[in-house]
Amino acid sequence: MNYISTRGQAPRLDFEATMLAGLARDGGLYVPDAVPAMPAAEIAALAGLSYEEAALRVMRPFMGESFSEAELEEAVAKAYAGFAHPARAPLKQLAPGHFLLELFHGPTLAFKDFAMQLIGQLFQTALARSGRRVTIVGATSGDTGSAAIEAFRGLPNVDVVILFPEGRVSEVQRRQMTTAADANVHAVALAGDFDACQARVKDMFNDFAFRDAVGLTAVNSINWARVLAQVVYFFTSAVALGAPHRAVNFCVPTGNFGDIYAGSIARAMGLPMERLVIATNHNDILHRTLETAEHRTEAVRPSISPSMDIQVSSNFERALFDALARDGAAVAALMAELKGQGGFALPQGAAGALRAIYASGRASEDETRVTIARTYAEAGELLCPHSAVGVHVAEAFLGAVPMVTLATAHPAKFPDAVEAAVGLRPPLPAHMADLYERTERVTHLPDDLGVLQEFVCERRAA
Ligand SMILES: *Cc1c(COP(=O)(O)O)cnc(C)c1O
Repeated sequence: MNYISTRGQAPRLDFEATMLAGLARDGGLYVPDAVPAMPAAEIAALAGLSYEEAALRVMRPFMGESFSEAELEEAVAKAYAGFAHPARAPLKQLAPGHFLLELFHGPTLAFKDFAMQLIGQLFQTALARSGRRVTIVGATSGDTGSAAIEAFRGLPNVDVVILFPEGRVSEVQRRQMTTAADANVHAVALAGDFDACQARVKDMFNDFAFRDAVGLTAVNSINWARVLAQVVYFFTSAVALGAPHRAVNFCVPTGNFGDIYAGSIARAMGLPMERLVIATNHNDILHRTLETAEHRTEAVRPSISPSMDIQVSSNFERALFDALARDGAAVAALMAELKGQGGFALPQGAAGALRAIYASGRASEDETRVTIARTYAEAGELLCPHSAVGVHVAEAFLGAVPMVTLATAHPAKFPDAVEAAVGLRPPLPAHMADLYERTERVTHLPDDLGVLQEFVCERRAA
């Protein structure tokens, strides 16, 4: 199994090299050269397995010779040992035909832990073997940063610098990033929005001299290994509801398109699905793209679901690559148009190809709040605002095929929004009950590439 770039101009890499590279050198994203099929009998055989065993079976075919069976087993076991629920990703029923997949029982209370905890272990294994040292630079709308800092803190061969948009993350998110005492992790409050953070990270990757000097790598959702780790829970939840003998639909609160793209990989492997529903808040570029076949950015408007406050949705490039029959030059041209003119029109065939897999919907701020209150009253489930966006959108698609909505974060990560909606302040789980007392360490920097690069170099030398 090899990986190719969505822009067609970067070298093919194996799984380990793809994971350690993060972004392809031509600016594209790595995808498998062919998605391995999982026959129905193998899908059926996942029933009754632990999450860890299912993860090994789903991920193994994508990894080639990169890790031995024993290395992979150990990494998976360590990755999920810190989760606060024995099922790791438990399913709850909200209503007839509507289920919630709780992905917030990891150490930083968001679904990002599923992938980040695992790649922390895999990085450690690979770097210890080669003696290499890398610098992880990441942009976060809140949850990726906390998950990355938690997964990589204290690792000897890794320095971590996380850029977050100043004032645009919740206090719990910020504190999870700024209270890690380990010397190898650094939280930076950038004077800009999430798209600015993400753009500066991309600029650093495009500066090859800098990139090579500091051993730059990315663990944002553009990193293929993260997408792969997220494929697993589409399988475990669908099998719990009767797959492969019946189809299951999914509704995914979406920002950078990583989580829902993982769902499309599960589908491509053979997991029967009718629809993958993209749920957006009022930053609805993806919903508009499916409706109008125009992919056009607007200004980001802050919302009560800040992890989805995005206009430039990185992983959408992977879906586009498939929708354009894997034509890297065509993808590169559209991405240049996006950068230069703020958008592009989808070629006719591509719009149809996307609509064959994805459906979409959006939730306003009011609809999100009402959904939090109603779901608590009707089903006793307290939703975070992102999950509530998902539940609201999913309700338009309920029918004979069971629907699984992904609950992407714990309500206690967004206590103000939840309290405003339902009058109840969700308490933090015991293991982080003292979060508000811990000392914060944060660096405030301008939206300036030179300043940021200097900061990364200094921290690496330290
Ligand atoms: C990251 C995140 C999302 C969006 O996921 P993508 O993979 O970026 O689409 C949604 N909800 C929460 C809570 C998140 O942390």
